[in-house]
Amino acid sequence: MKNAQHETGTAAHAHRVVILGAGYAGMAAAVQLAARAKRRDDVDVTLVNAQERFTERMRLHMAATGRQLAELSIAELLAGTDARFVRGWVTAVDPDAKTVRIDDDQVLPYDTLVFGLGTTTDTSAISGVEEHAHTLSNAEDAEFLAERLARLGSGTVVVAGSGLTGVESAAEIAEQHPYLDVVLLGRQEPGSTMNPRAKTYLDAALHRLGVQVRSGVEVAKVLPGAVELAGGETVAADAVLWTSGTRTSPLAAAAGLAVDERGRIVTDTALRSVSHPDVYAVGDAAAIRQAYGVMHGTCQGGMPTGVHAALSIERVLRGRQPKPFRFGYYHTPVSLGRHDAVVQFTRPDDTPRRFCLTGRMAVRYKETVTASPWPTYGRMKKMPASGAFWPRGGRFTRIRGNR
Ligand SMILES: Cc1cc2nc3c(=O)[nH]c(=O)nc-3n(C[C@H](O)[C@H](O)[C@H](O)COP(=O)(O)OP(=O)(O)OC[C@H]3O[C@@H](n4cnc5c(N)ncnc54)[C@H](O)[C@@H]3O)c2cc1C
Repeated sequence: MKNAQHETGTAAHAHRVVILGAGYAGMAAAVQLAARAKRRDDVDVTLVNAQERFTERMRLHMAATGRQLAELSIAELLAGTDARFVRGWVTAVDPDAKTVRIDDDQVLPYDTLVFGLGTTTDTSAISGVEEHAHTLSNAEDAEFLAERLARLGSGTVVVAGSGLTGVESAAEIAEQHPYLDVVLLGRQEPGSTMNPRAKTYLDAALHRLGVQVRSGVEVAKVLPGAVELAGGETVAADAVLWTSGTRTSPLAAAAGLAVDERGRIVTDTALRSVSHPDVYAVGDAAAIRQAYGVMHGTCQGGMPTGVHAALSIERVLRGRQPKPFRFGYYHTPVSLGRHDAVVQFTRPDDTPRRFCLTGRMAVRYKETVTASPWPTYGRMKKMPASGAFWPRGGRFTRIRGNR
């Protein structure tokens, strides 16, 4: 009903909420708000995303070794709510006119915008990455790498970046392609943020899978067929996977929204842009400060930001003040191929606790976590309140003036 009015332009009273990006955070915002808006006729919810399929980004290292990603339809998930799905590429945001441009020819007006366009791998910082390296920025990239690996009869794959995406990718490739030599290169040691037991386990698993780890190294250049390290040494590579560093969509900065040095939208405690309060920022695209520091991009933190933005929008529409967002980390699950994993439990500020899971228990835990977002959205659609539970971080996130 609201949509029909919207399309014919007669629903002047409806508050138009446009959500950009149907990743883990944007999807959470859309489902939460759509479920709540079912009970009201004064809110229009529109979700915009480049693909019709929801991308399980947490499985991209699996897709890179040929595993099929599930066909999860965003439009089907929203069916039964009044939310509208627009498939398209966002090319500009105009916060003065309060419009969003899609595919350069469609203009969507909004009253409140939720910006959840996530991040992609940063291919600009090092020469040759853009031209010669693979990335895991989206499903197409992962599938492209899978095809390349399947074609390599033998040779060396260099995984550049020893953060958790690099570790998971190197382990996955080594397990699925045992005839390939896998070299994991990076500044820090793999699992450097874990407790000694978890790190020792992770090191042993990489060793067992035959991954050669070289930490403390800086990549200077990616060349056709090799990676050049600072100092001039070259490491031969038949394929390079670049996992180091992320880049935020340039659209926020181009629109004049206040962003940090990484292009993330700087938010207030309610997740609104500090420069444009009618824009909420969620997930990896947002620079959200907690008492322990600025949150780093994860799904575990991203989904709560989406839900919180939706709850805040609803509160404001009811004439109430939004509540401050609080979030504390609780785990770092890391897959080590399909048959092994390690889960580091953490304090709310993401420092490691003593407790960790390893082996089969960890594999089960990791898979449960990875598979959970989609059913969570389904549940939220029926029972919006079910999405509002996440660890608030206790004393780690309490700041003076916060309730
Ligand atoms: C291999 C891998 C493993 C990971 N494992 C974990 C893990 O175990 N646990 C964890 O917590 N996190 C993990 N992460 C991180 C996690 O995936 C991200 O933090 C999360 O995806 C961020 O969610 P988001 O909604 O902010 O952005 P995204 O999930 O990136 O979604 C952004 C959406 O916006 C769309 N989009 C972008 N630009 C445009 C545009 N201009 N127009 C239209 N649409 C656009 C994209 O297509 C996408 O659908 C992993 C990441 C990778 C790559």
